[in-house]
Amino acid sequence: MSDNSINLYDMSLPDIENLMNKWDEPAFRARQIYRHLYVHLGNDPNEMTDLPVALRERIAEKTHFGDLRVDRVLTGDHGMTRKALFAMQDNSPVESVLMIYPDRATVCISSQSGCPMQCTFCATGKLGHLHDLTPGQIVEQVLWAARELNNVRKQAKGEIPGAISNVVYMGMGEPFNNYDNWWASVERLHDPTGFNMGARNFTVSTVGLVPGILKLAEADLPVNLAVSLHSADDKLRSEMMPVNKRYPITELIDAARTYTEKTRRRLSFEYVLLKEKNDFPEQALQLAGLLRGNVTTGKTMLFHVNLIPWNPVPGTSLNRSDRKRVINFQKVLKEHGIPCTVRVERGTDIAAACGQLAGGDIAGIRDENSPD
Ligand code: SF4
Repeated sequence: MSDNSINLYDMSLPDIENLMNKWDEPAFRARQIYRHLYVHLGNDPNEMTDLPVALRERIAEKTHFGDLRVDRVLTGDHGMTRKALFAMQDNSPVESVLMIYPDRATVCISSQSGCPMQCTFCATGKLGHLHDLTPGQIVEQVLWAARELNNVRKQAKGEIPGAISNVVYMGMGEPFNNYDNWWASVERLHDPTGFNMGARNFTVSTVGLVPGILKLAEADLPVNLAVSLHSADDKLRSEMMPVNKRYPITELIDAARTYTEKTRRRLSFEYVLLKEKNDFPEQALQLAGLLRGNVTTGKTMLFHVNLIPWNPVPGTSLNRSDRKRVINFQKVLKEHGIPCTVRVERGTDIAAACGQLAGGDIAGIRDENSPD
């Protein structure tokens, strides 16, 4: 691949039309190529047999299909959870997780390699900020998952969904810290002439970057929003999530309310439970007070709380809340009228669960590239 080779996934349809124009090809060739990329999931010009041979050769010579090299694919949950460990050109890690259920297939993708936000409970945060991913590098993770799903369907005996049904931006990185590239990836994957993912099938998760929440409130596609809250106390939240010093809880809740008022969409507050850190019943009461306050003062906010038992991250002194503490926490919230659920877990055995993505693996799991 030459240094100035073009990553086709970084090109919008108008960009490909411009390229065809430059190459003296008719405009309809751009739409053919675009369909190969996003409808047929093609990544080999030799298989684009409706294109003239000379054009296929030129595509092979001047462009490439993605920047991320699949280093390994790890499988868990009887093959229904699959984590891809990608390497960028300088070997920086990027990870994506495909979770297959009988009725849906969700892919969790990364918007950055590493992350600058430094949440203390998160494996990715320990890597620091390595790269902002380009729109193409974000999109190609979903295309990997779509191809992987097709392969699983060919081999599986049971019911396997026909296509990716949900894309969640909860992998490595903070999407609003790379807002423009993240949003370009949403628009590309949403495009009805291409991958055609419904806007409501996207969920973006933020650590609480207020400007991003307010910007999304004005966006023209109704994607879902999840806000990581993790504590109703500013002191503890700042300790767990340094971003809280910049955007404290009151400011964050105000932005969340503005978002739901403008969009009329419900958001979810994510709350990762750490044993004897943020999982005491009094802390559930404080959380209920914070969120109920928005109802009782007549200021409406449509929300739901998602409780997440913390997943182990090596090198921390934190502990996972046991089931009893999780249930108690949920009980207090429910008694105070807070809608909440406990997240169903996937992928903890391959370090593919929330907060566990850090470019590595864990002993004892199956590595698709290793001999049995
Ligand atoms: S939890 Fe999210 S925002 Fe915080 S360090 Fe990890 S990846 Fe970054």
